[in-house]
Amino acid sequence: MGNLIRGAVIAAAVEDEVRRRAALLAARGRIVRLVAVRANQDAASDLYLKRQQDAALRLGLDYRVKDVRPDRASLLSALRELEADVLTTGIIVQTPLPPDCDVDEIQRAIPAAKDVEGLHPANLGRLLDRDPPIVPCTAGAVMECLRATGLDVSGAEATVVGRSRIVGRPAALLLVEKNATVTLCHSRTKDLIAATRRADVVVMAVGRPGLLRPEHVKPGAIVLDVGINRVIKDGKTVTVGDADPAVAEIAGHFTPTPGGVGPVTVALLWRNAVALAETS
Ligand code: NDP
Repeated sequence: MGNLIRGAVIAAAVEDEVRRRAALLAARGRIVRLVAVRANQDAASDLYLKRQQDAALRLGLDYRVKDVRPDRASLLSALRELEADVLTTGIIVQTPLPPDCDVDEIQRAIPAAKDVEGLHPANLGRLLDRDPPIVPCTAGAVMECLRATGLDVSGAEATVVGRSRIVGRPAALLLVEKNATVTLCHSRTKDLIAATRRADVVVMAVGRPGLLRPEHVKPGAIVLDVGINRVIKDGKTVTVGDADPAVAEIAGHFTPTPGGVGPVTVALLWRNAVALAETS
């Protein structure tokens, strides 16, 4: 059995850093105020919102939920208002978006200086910098989980499965910055198994339960599983990742689902919120 990478422990360390940085800001009379804009009624989104809220309570930071009508015009108008509001230092728009919204348009409408998810093109572009101030939370969480192993990935083979703008692509860029040799796979990849088998680090960001099987993994590899999938098991709905649980027997280090990358993602949302407040 490989070593378990515990997301809660990593998240707690990030939260300590957030508390320290927020206290320094408060001493200078600056506040961190994160506003979540909700233009949907969605159980999964509400769960994520509750996690953000719980973290805010633990950190003693200002977190507000702004409910808007589920249409493009109302959402854009709320974003304009929040952009102008000097007391709001961070904005997150909960997904799924209303049906008449275009995701690119909404991401551009969140001002880069208040974009806690790091998804505005200006913030994504800065991922090419050596030390970007804001990184998309889930990709950043992957890197924190990797850092927690204490292993140096310089020169290592890393395979990222999934090329979304919010997870796979930024994770690949961050791994390149750590001098890994990166293969970025997606649904058109011809030989996915060859790519995962040769990897020292595998990042799964697909959304397919059990896609990565033990025979697809090099013994001793680090497996970082971003996937969140709800499946029925023994008559109950449970959350599983993209890696078959038996992968843990082969991997040297692995993130569990739940309890791996997820908790770190929320902590990084708050780290981004503090980083933006520091520069506002
Ligand atoms: P997307 O649906 O945007 O992207 C999925 C990616 O997987 C695409 O690039 C797609 O390829 C690729 N893909 C689909 N099927 C295959 C396949 N059979 N083989 C190889 N690649 C495939 O998902 P997200 O990036 O938004 O999320 C990925 C997963 O991570 C989901 O389970 C999501 O719930 C979870 N997630 C977890 C978070 C956390 O905090 N832990 C936060 C955000 C997401 P193509 O581009 O060719 O279509």
